[in-house]
Amino acid sequence: MKTGMTNKARAAAIIAAAGSSSRMGGRDKLFADLDGAPVIMHSVLAFEKAESIDEIIIAARFDSIVKIRQLCKEYGITKPLIVTEGAETRQETVACALRANSSGIIAVHDGARPFITPEFIDRIIGLAPEKGAVIPAVKVKETVKVVRGGRVISTPDRDELYLVQTPQVFLFEKYQEAVEKAREADRNAPPVTDDAQLFERAGMEVFVTEGDYGNIKITTKDDLPCSELRIGSGYDVHRFARDRKLILCGAEIPHEEGLFGHSDADVAVHALMDALLGALALGDIGRHFPNTGPQYKGISSMELLRRVMVLINEKGYSPSNIDITIIADRPKLADYILQMRENIAEACRIPLNRISVKATTEEGLGLAGKGIGANAICLLKEVHAMRQFT
Ligand code: MG
Repeated sequence: MKTGMTNKARAAAIIAAAGSSSRMGGRDKLFADLDGAPVIMHSVLAFEKAESIDEIIIAARFDSIVKIRQLCKEYGITKPLIVTEGAETRQETVACALRANSSGIIAVHDGARPFITPEFIDRIIGLAPEKGAVIPAVKVKETVKVVRGGRVISTPDRDELYLVQTPQVFLFEKYQEAVEKAREADRNAPPVTDDAQLFERAGMEVFVTEGDYGNIKITTKDDLPCSELRIGSGYDVHRFARDRKLILCGAEIPHEEGLFGHSDADVAVHALMDALLGALALGDIGRHFPNTGPQYKGISSMELLRRVMVLINEKGYSPSNIDITIIADRPKLADYILQMRENIAEACRIPLNRISVKATTEEGLGLAGKGIGANAICLLKEVHAMRQFT
């Protein structure tokens, strides 16, 4: 036996993943995307890495068993794994998992608490041999009222109020004893909402250890942290050409010259498309719509923008805001700015107040008289609702 390992407690993890997600609008919170991985896998990976865990038992809904097994394979779970069917209530779910297996210590965890760490798990399990039943909890920060029928009944002393988390860790023998005693104490008691409650009903002690305010349970979409943000920039210049229309952000602007180009030469939309593609590292418009392609000859750049938006949306992103600067000494663009913004808002399907189009001159230097340039910056945000791991 290795030195230092002698007194290390070993445990089986039981991950409760059979909830109905009724507060997530029917969408299964356990499979919602969190930083590029499904919520449930964050928990499973923490137990995979925790030194004190020997095996992982996941109690899932019948229709997600195969999916969870597949995910565990994809994420390289190496510890002995059992994915079994959970039940309607928490208590029954844990009971199902226990029937599947039993070890000296069990650590029962909510599958919807993805922010636990292996160190946190090991610390609580380390306390179990001595304490028998240990749960992590944090002090309530706000005032809590007891309310009945829309009226305040009382205000409990805040110093005694704690928010309870998981993993809740028990000596398996003690857990079985608690289940038995709790049943004897009241056969008609309502189901427990956490496992420690069984010990309370049985009149057995439960010890509290310091929890982590970050160890939240995902119950509604708002609990999912801010989605990923990506920034992109684009720049383009086209020179003036006779007998061409001048199109900027889809608006036709009366001028004696237009811009030279394979498409309608809408330089502002070209810069914007490069910014959108750049934000997701998808290359540039030359790659997606080569100017050798006859199908793009004279095409409206607004049409190309709509196609770029399809790509962006398919990747699960949507623009948060867009800022375009058009560099032109002539013509004057002030009267067309609103129309340009409306065109972009419509194509990108975001509100007008998130689209900025500005015009500037180069004081007779640089491009002056020769053409028009444009600069675009966009911020893309990940749209959680559009991405579910299947
Ligand atoms: Mg161009």
